[in-house]
Amino acid sequence: MKEVKKLVEGYERFLDQDFEKQKDLYQKLSKDGQSPQFLVISCCDSRVDPAHIMNTAPGELFIVRNIANLVPVSNSDENLNCTNAAIEFAVKHLKVKHIIVFGHSQCGGIKALMEGNHPNDNYSFIDPWVELFESVKEKILEEHEKKSFNEQCSYCERACIEASLNNLMTFPWIKEKCNSGDLAIHGWYFEIETGRLLGKENGEFIPVSKLKLN
Ligand SMILES: [Zn+2]
Repeated sequence: MKEVKKLVEGYERFLDQDFEKQKDLYQKLSKDGQSPQFLVISCCDSRVDPAHIMNTAPGELFIVRNIANLVPVSNSDENLNCTNAAIEFAVKHLKVKHIIVFGHSQCGGIKALMEGNHPNDNYSFIDPWVELFESVKEKILEEHEKKSFNEQCSYCERACIEASLNNLMTFPWIKEKCNSGDLAIHGWYFEIETGRLLGKENGEFIPVSKLKLN
């Protein structure tokens, strides 16, 4: 249980240091409730923690994490879809101003999508989930037929961000808010190996520091 003890020790350090320093903030958040401006849809990957990467304070990011940071279409058969429930809560109730689909390199979920149906039952939940983006995979295989598998996965990671942005617009209440300027959606991509954070602008991914954000 040594590995769990590490978490308890980490929590104790957090309580003594971070929580102590941010006590007023926690009190305020407790009293007033949360009012984050950002919904982040990111992957479960343990290496990609949006709050850590973007150095945010408690209460700033409303985050839903799923395998491969995918947004299903609004009328998908998956009615019991926790991602869409989180999107609904963030947009309709918290009234976030921005949605960021936060993808990353070396994504195991995208690799599972690109590999396709797995013969054993170790992917019984993963395969049907990532197959929601089967059409993206097919497009990648067509457009990048001669590329290595790893390169195809990398293209697919970015293409799935774009597809998720398109899927967000299938929610009428998101489309409406985007049209009225009350909501903006963004596609970002974190490169684990370099630490670079890229944002999609005019069809390409560029360093976030170069994005036109005004
Ligand atoms: Zn991932």
